[in-house]
Amino acid sequence: MTITSEHYDELIKIRHYIHENPELSGQEFKTTQYLKDYLTDLGIQILETGLKTGLVAQIGSGQPVIALRADIDALPIVENTGLPFTSKNTGVMHACGHDLHQTSLLGAAKILKSREHEIDGTIKLIFQHAEESHIGADEVLATGVLADVSAIIGYHNMPTLPVGQIGIREKGIMAAVDQFYVTIKGVGSHAAYPQEGADSILATSAIIASLQQIVARNISPQHAVVVSVTHMTAGNTWNVLPDEAIFEGTIRTFDKDDRKLAKKRFYDIVENVSSAYGVHAEIDWILGPNVTYNDPELSEFLFNETRKWHDDVMVPEPSNAGEDFATYQEQIPGVFAFIGSNAIGSPGLHFSDMTVKDEMLPVAVDYYVNNAFALLERLAQK
Ligand SMILES: [Zn+2]
Ligand SMILES: [Zn+2]
Repeated sequence: MTITSEHYDELIKIRHYIHENPELSGQEFKTTQYLKDYLTDLGIQILETGLKTGLVAQIGSGQPVIALRADIDALPIVENTGLPFTSKNTGVMHACGHDLHQTSLLGAAKILKSREHEIDGTIKLIFQHAEESHIGADEVLATGVLADVSAIIGYHNMPTLPVGQIGIREKGIMAAVDQFYVTIKGVGSHAAYPQEGADSILATSAIIASLQQIVARNISPQHAVVVSVTHMTAGNTWNVLPDEAIFEGTIRTFDKDDRKLAKKRFYDIVENVSSAYGVHAEIDWILGPNVTYNDPELSEFLFNETRKWHDDVMVPEPSNAGEDFATYQEQIPGVFAFIGSNAIGSPGLHFSDMTVKDEMLPVAVDYYVNNAFALLERLAQK
């Protein structure tokens, strides 16, 4: 590890403080102030963006320009880790490890600032708000502050991978996310006289069962796609057939054509099964992030660069979770890596008992710092 033990101790304190004081997406006011104060104390320039939360800072100047990104928001989960630095903001928890992400980027910021004379170009540091609600990256891009950026990198900690293991793979590493919310409108009736109504529960059951044919019979078995109905509600007593039912859930894909096809088949199934059951369906479709698509050339370059300073580098399985880093990658070639933060078999991301280890921080700092220099050098040669 290239950070000093003193710096490491400082980062542990910072991470525990951030873990104790989590804030939800779009409400990261204290977190943003804390980050701003720390960076300003180091003499690092904070760029004017007009963002209410989150920030973009800058080290170095001139061309080329690259960006390092960490997200800063937490989740509406009651923490159940028993850690001595458990969330003081009950009901809000850093259950996705964004406390690690932002702490490691602060660590990288300190080192990069101390080596600013060696930086030939500009490094923008994105401390991004509202990743979990999937709007933060869009809002950062809309400020125009990244217009001159030629390459961007980020990572997600993985509590199910061993501490410090770095995973880099080309192309899709995290899934495209679609979300649906469906209202099935039937006609309510007495439970004993179903012929007088149109049963929303029976129709909804048939629809939900039929949706699994999208994966089983429409998508190529070689492609990864998930259709999950995660919530349904209908009725409130035993002897009345309700007039309405709702269900919601998500579809995850890695391929643009699969994404289109899954949506089309979803509409076909919901509308046609509804019509067969004499009910009416209203579908709300909410587009989540696109597939987190790692630029193939850049991935290969960073994989080889990372192996120069780190032993434990591998090609990971893609994750079916989504990540709004994908939004940057639609405009800027980028690489999103995984860095192990606990051990195989540990509770995964978004679990109330998920714990991640401070020991991954030095590796994450190196990932940012070493790859920032490597990227700038590569871009300068082009
Ligand atoms: Zn998350
Ligand atoms: Zn996350």
